Amino acid sequence: MTALSKNRIADFLKSEPSDALVSISGWVRSKRGNKDVAFIALSDGSTIKTIQVVADLTSFNEELIRQITTGSAIEAKGKLVSSQGAGQSIELVANEIIILGEADAEKYPLQKKKHSLEFLREIAHLRPRTNTFGAVLRVRHAMSFAIHKYFNDRHFYNIHAPIITGSDAEGAGEMFKVTTLNVGNPPRNEAGDVDYEKDFFGKEANLTVSGQLESELAALALSRVYTFGPTFRAENSNTTRHLAEFWMIEPEIAFFDLNDNMDLAEDFLKYLINYALEHCADDLEFLEKRQQEEESQMKKEERSSLPLIEKLKSVIEGTFERITYTEAISILERSGKKFEYEVKWGVDLQSEHERYLVEKHFKKPVILSNYPKDIKAFYMKQDKDGKTVRAMDVLFPGIGEIIGGSQREEVYEKLSQRIDEMGIHRESLWWYLETRQFGTVPHSGFGLGFERLILFVTGMGNIRDVIPFPRTPKNLEF
Ligand code: ATP
Ligand code: MN
Repeated sequence: MTALSKNRIADFLKSEPSDALVSISGWVRSKRGNKDVAFIALSDGSTIKTIQVVADLTSFNEELIRQITTGSAIEAKGKLVSSQGAGQSIELVANEIIILGEADAEKYPLQKKKHSLEFLREIAHLRPRTNTFGAVLRVRHAMSFAIHKYFNDRHFYNIHAPIITGSDAEGAGEMFKVTTLNVGNPPRNEAGDVDYEKDFFGKEANLTVSGQLESELAALALSRVYTFGPTFRAENSNTTRHLAEFWMIEPEIAFFDLNDNMDLAEDFLKYLINYALEHCADDLEFLEKRQQEEESQMKKEERSSLPLIEKLKSVIEGTFERITYTEAISILERSGKKFEYEVKWGVDLQSEHERYLVEKHFKKPVILSNYPKDIKAFYMKQDKDGKTVRAMDVLFPGIGEIIGGSQREEVYEKLSQRIDEMGIHRESLWWYLETRQFGTVPHSGFGLGFERLILFVTGMGNIRDVIPFPRTPKNLEF
C-alpha cells in the first residue's frame, strides 16, 4: 500500500465494520471519558466530521492517554466497529496509539470552545484546524476545481497572465510597485526623479490589478480563454469585501457580445453554486448552522433572509434580473428611500444602492448594464448614444458586485480616441491598440472575484475569512 492509497477519515466513516486492522492518523479535537475508557474525536481535515477513537484504559499506559490533548497529533491502530454513540455509525476501537506530536494544553490556543473570527485571524497559522475554516477551505478548493472544469468542459483555454506588469493603464485600482532599487537612496535622473531605467525591468513595474488585457490578446487568437490568478489592489479600503491580494477569474471570448457575456456569467455562477450544493453538502450544512448561530445575536434586519442552502438553491432556480443602469437609477429615485450617497444619473452606484436593488427591490441577483462611460474603463464598447458603454455588473444579495465585465471596444478609432480623452498614457498600450488594427473582432469578458464567490457560497461575513492568509492594509503576518 502506498501512502497515497491510505484511507482518510472521510473514507473510514463510510466503510463497514471489519476485523481488519487499520491505522488512522489525525489531530485530536477533543478527549472525554472516565477512568475506564477514553473517547477521542479525531480529525484529518478530509471531512467536517470526526471519527471516534475508543481506548479501553485497562490496555493503555495512563501517561500516554494523559498526553493526548486537544490539538495533539496521533496515529491510532485498531478495528472499525459500529458505533453505539449518536451521530456516527463507525468508530475505531484502538489497541495501539502513537503520539506523533504533542500539543501543550496550557499553550494550545484552540481549546474546544467557541472562538471569535477576529481571534482566529490572529492565529491564521492554526485556524485551518477549526471546523469553520476546514469547511471554508474545502469549499474553496471545490470551487476552484469547478471553475477549471466548467471552462475545460466548454473548450476554453486557461491562460496564465503575468503577475508583474509594465502597464499602469488598466485603471482598475491603485497598484503595488515592484522594484529592486534601493528605496532609501534610489538613482535619480537629471530632472531629479527616480531613474527607473536603472531598475530591474528598465521601467516602472507593478503588480497586476487584472489579467484582462493579456486575456484579450489570447482570446483574439484562441477564441475562448480564461485566466484564474492572483490580482493586487493597493486601495486602502478596509471593508468586509476588499482584499489587497485576491484571486480573479477572467474569461474572455471572441465573437461574444454583451448579451452573450451576461448569459455566460449567469450560467457560470449557477453552475458553481450547484457544484457546491452537490459536492460540499456536509460543509454547507455546517456553515448554515454556523451562520444561523452567529446571526441569532444580530438585529432582525441584519440577518440573511434565507438559510444558506435555501439561498443557494434560490439563485440556481430563478433567473437573474437584467436592467440597465438608467433603469436602476430611476428605481432608486422612485424608491423614496434616503440613501447616504446621492442618486442621480451619472454617479457610480454605491454598495447601499446595489444592495437596495438586489435585496429589497428584486430580491434576486441583478445584472446591471450600459453604465455611463465616464465611470467605466477606457476599453469598454461605446453605445450609439455616446453616453453609455456596454458594461455589465452582476450584483448578488449580501455581496453587492460579484462580477464586473463588458463588451470591449474593438474599433481602433473609438478606442484610441477614448484613451486620449481619458488622458491615458498610450505608449504603454501600443500592443493592445494593435490588436484593433490586425483582425479585430467583437469580444467580451468579465472578472469574477473568487473570494466574493466564496463569501456567497459559504455565508461567511468577512472576506478575510474565506482566504487562507488574507492581505489587507497593515496585515501581513502569516
Ligand atoms: P468594487 O467596486 O467592489 O471595489 P471593482 O469595480 O473595483 O470592485 P473590478 O475591477 O470590476 O472591481 O473587478 C472585478 C471583480 O473582482 C469584482 O466584481 C469583485 O468581485 C472583485 N474584486 C474587485 N476588487 C476586489 C478586492 N479589492 N478584493 C476582492 N475582490 C475584489
Ligand atoms: Mn467593477
